[in-house]
Amino acid sequence: MDRTDTAVRVEQLSRVYANGSQKVTALAGVDVTFHRGTFTAVMGPSGSGKSTLLQTAAGLDRPTAGRVWIGGTELSGMSETKLTKLRRDRIGFVFQAFNLVAALTVAENIGLPSRLAGVRPERAWLEHVIDRVGLRERLHHRPSALSGGQQQRVAIARALATRPEVIFCDEPTGALDTETAADVLTLLRAVVDEHRQTVVMVTHDPVAASYADRVLVLADGRIVRDMPQPGVDRIAEQLASLGRRRVVTS
Ligand code: ADP
Repeated sequence: MDRTDTAVRVEQLSRVYANGSQKVTALAGVDVTFHRGTFTAVMGPSGSGKSTLLQTAAGLDRPTAGRVWIGGTELSGMSETKLTKLRRDRIGFVFQAFNLVAALTVAENIGLPSRLAGVRPERAWLEHVIDRVGLRERLHHRPSALSGGQQQRVAIARALATRPEVIFCDEPTGALDTETAADVLTLLRAVVDEHRQTVVMVTHDPVAASYADRVLVLADGRIVRDMPQPGVDRIAEQLASLGRRRVVTS
């Protein structure tokens, strides 16, 4: 794979938080590359460093040590202004709680990142995204008039609108029922397959993770499993074995 195939890369990434006089190591030297057009699930017990990995890789938080690249751009040493611009232009986010702007319509929410960036959205692409996520009939509604699944579709459309290098998802199906979750995961899978979009998704759910091409498992701030296309059973088994190991060693 050449450099242009790399959407995100982190090298020896560490993040230590100071909690009063105590130090908490959230990430302890993580190396990972996410290639373009791949869908990766990040799993692991609570407190294993999943959110910290997402936040530091997305330039929302600065690592204590190590390096991060989005495409060919290294984040270390960037000013806050540049980081904000890079996040806005080149990274999409989808959160468990949808994070839509309640006062804006669906269309306005989807167009918001482009408006904030001061760029004219690519009309044809936007139209395609709206159809792809099935929101054509809802464009003038406010988020409160939509179901949870529809709201998450708006958030995905908003993330796709600027054609970002990567979309980071933090428990995107955490607030959805099983059927709606499957719908949202199928959509994420499709944007990876159809548009070579890169998706990195934190999830607790082995079924959600089984939609990914690759499943990473974190424990104590390190990657302890890196599995290509494991099925639901293997994912559940690996997570359980980790649980057992932790009980035995603690
Ligand atoms: P996960 O997403 O896997 O639950 P996190 O990345 O949120 O794990 O947290 C990893 C570790 O870092 C945990 O021990 C957590 O308590 C600690 N941590 C995370 N954020 C902070 C913070 N802002 N201040 C202090 N400690 C933090």
